[in-house]
Amino acid sequence: MSVGLDANVRILVVEDDPHVRQMLALLLGARWHVEMADGGEAARDMALASPPDLVISDVRMPGIDGIELLRALRAAPATHDVPVILVSARAGERETIAGLEAGADDFLIKPFSGRELMVRVQARLDMIEMRRRTTRQEEALAALQRHSEWTEQLLDSLPVPLWLLEPTSRRVLFANHAARRMIVDPSASGDGLGERLALLRPDDEGGGALDIGDLMPASEAARVRGRRVVSMTAEGSVWLLADAARLPALHDHPAVAVLSLRDVTELQRKEDLLRSALHVRDEFLSVASHELRTPITTLSLQTESAFRGMTAAHSDGAASEERIMRKLSTIRRQIVRLEQLVEALLDVSRLMEGRLHLNPEEVDLGALATDIVESLADAAAHAGSTINLRCAPGVVGRWDRLRIGQVITNLISNAIKFGRSHPIDVDVDVDVDANGGRAARVRVHDSGIGIPPEQRKRIFDRFERAPAERHYPGLGLGLWIAKQIVDASSGTITVDSEVGVGSTFTVRLPRSA
Ligand code: ADP
Repeated sequence: MSVGLDANVRILVVEDDPHVRQMLALLLGARWHVEMADGGEAARDMALASPPDLVISDVRMPGIDGIELLRALRAAPATHDVPVILVSARAGERETIAGLEAGADDFLIKPFSGRELMVRVQARLDMIEMRRRTTRQEEALAALQRHSEWTEQLLDSLPVPLWLLEPTSRRVLFANHAARRMIVDPSASGDGLGERLALLRPDDEGGGALDIGDLMPASEAARVRGRRVVSMTAEGSVWLLADAARLPALHDHPAVAVLSLRDVTELQRKEDLLRSALHVRDEFLSVASHELRTPITTLSLQTESAFRGMTAAHSDGAASEERIMRKLSTIRRQIVRLEQLVEALLDVSRLMEGRLHLNPEEVDLGALATDIVESLADAAAHAGSTINLRCAPGVVGRWDRLRIGQVITNLISNAIKFGRSHPIDVDVDVDVDANGGRAARVRVHDSGIGIPPEQRKRIFDRFERAPAERHYPGLGLGLWIAKQIVDASSGTITVDSEVGVGSTFTVRLPRSA
């Protein structure tokens, strides 16, 4: 390769003979920048201070000769690689070997023509240039390597799983760390980075297997945005949102498709919960309005008819008075029912705000149950049922009398409501609790409709009512409130039940509560 007139190339000429030096300066100076040294010592200092591109040195010189200069240059890191051409008069074998051993790059034998000098120097400079270019290329390659390692690390640090696919073959070229962690189906046949994902279409899109390549946009102009995909894992199904775009070939990079799959399982789960909570709320509102309207309708009918009865009473005497009393007693029952409903609603808002305050006092549970059973005897008789109460003596503890009374009332009212007119058993005694301590126990047993197994846990949730029991009145709040009260009293409430046979609700309360 020809360098032409190139003042950027610095050549250091070392020659003790001033004539030869002059001649070399003339020849070389026509094409390159030439610096002169009249001996090995000066040359060494100059080269070390500012390394030239090439050194042309006479071998035989007084003081430090060409071979020694060469050794000195090779020994210093700054000049280690500087090419050196040795010039000698009819080279002796010894000199040549010594020169080669010291690392000379070329020899010029005096006498030489100007043309030979120029060709040799040019050849050496071309080699230097070639070597430099190779070094530059190697450096560029190393930089590229470092850059792609950096890019990979950057992509690996992203929490979003990313894939790069080859658009035609749909082969996965790269998967970042988050993507590699998404390998979810070890049983899948392929061992590539895409096959083991086991992707499926969601059911509402017909289900069925999906290849990772199917998520690629059809063209460079198209994009895939938030497409829903399901992936089966050992832990269950995972909901994913796929986004994909195609990048055209750019510089040295071929065209690729970039695909990301975001895990939205948690969001989906929350959405489902929210949707079902909304459904439960709407259902509750319709049940509540129905429940509140029923006693109001009865109330207004009975009041109206009592009014009419009062007007007629003047003529009818005692018989009509009795009828009015009956109506008033119905009116009173409906008012109690309304009060209970409103009270339950108030309790819910109190409990939701964490405003349930217990006032523990010494309570004889048997005496409390006796009072409640007495007060409910009327309602039980109205439903064609009876309540048998068995109390062990001295079941005493510190509890909130009103709240625990509310729990027992609720359980017995449910037993009346769902008990199909069969007798109800209420037992109060002392039992061993889960921790081996002694707990007060209240059991309310009915031989009524029973509760299906799948409903048993849910009946203690807010607004939950067994769906088959829609024609029984109620807000689905009683058991939830009862559970909150029992929990706050450090007790437990459980149910045993068989459909069509009956149910037993058991409340255990620690005696120190
Ligand atoms: P509700 O006001 O609807 O009675 P609860 O919270 O007291 O509300 O009860 C929730 C649901 O549990 C009821 O709707 C009913 O389906 C079921 N349940 C409660 N007690 C009984 C019982 N003794 N027998 C059968 N089912 C019952």
